[in-house]
Amino acid sequence: MERTEVIEQGKGSVGGKPPPPLAVTLPELPSVPSAWRGAKYVVRTLLGGEDNPKLRKSNRAGTPFKTWGLALAPAMESGFQTCASSSAACRSHCLYRQGHARIDPSIAACRVAKTIAWKKHREWFEARLRYELARIEKRAREKRFCAAIRLNLTSDIMWEAELPELFEQFADFQFYDYTKHTRRLTRFVKGELPANYHLTFSRSDKNDLQARDVLMAGANVAVVFRSRPFPARYLGFAVIDGDTTDLRFLDPAGVVVGLSARGTAKGDESGFVVDADGEKWSLRMAQ
Ligand code: SF4
Repeated sequence: MERTEVIEQGKGSVGGKPPPPLAVTLPELPSVPSAWRGAKYVVRTLLGGEDNPKLRKSNRAGTPFKTWGLALAPAMESGFQTCASSSAACRSHCLYRQGHARIDPSIAACRVAKTIAWKKHREWFEARLRYELARIEKRAREKRFCAAIRLNLTSDIMWEAELPELFEQFADFQFYDYTKHTRRLTRFVKGELPANYHLTFSRSDKNDLQARDVLMAGANVAVVFRSRPFPARYLGFAVIDGDTTDLRFLDPAGVVVGLSARGTAKGDESGFVVDADGEKWSLRMAQ
């Protein structure tokens, strides 16, 4: 893992030379792994694919889609807010803290560095993102697959407001995300987001009532269940298996997308994770 300096900051052009790697200084925050506080980190690439278990699973599901995603630092981990509608429980059990990130602090350092790049070196970040997307576009044409892009693997940024032109520039791509922002989901339901951007509402311990509204409006809600099999219904709506792939834009509309609790979430007591008798629980809640 790089900790060297060098690196000049540069611009890139779509289809042209890639922007050179970018050295950023990681903040001296308790959320940053101690060995990396105040250190330089060289950001070379932004998007990942096969290295992410969820995306890898999607890529092997026999669909025409291949998926790439952007993993930033959630909530205030980097010193910048990227999840304004998060709850304490979802922050605590976020995928950001699961898997290899539990044992390898350089993963968090990398995600914080990308977030610093996004917030402080925006020109570089946008050029790099466009460069990588353009490369995927070229490969998709050559290899004849459809590209699916998830820009919020571990964040909840309103990309439709931050980089609206991206969705037009890569009009053949299917962008998708999960979100806890209710108003954002409402705009999606009203057809006010780019046509190639699909959102699934993400239930937490704090937003069950909003989740029900989303379902009644015909959109989908992802719910984390403690164990399998998932209940047949939750909040009165059919539950489908969301573990099979991460390709949420292929889901039927108006369903609950069941996801299995991972890592520390299995022991959650806050209500963020729903027990398999979720229907009974949700009926109690609805009374
Ligand atoms: S909103 Fe999503 S990405 Fe942000 S902390 Fe919660 S679970 Fe993680």
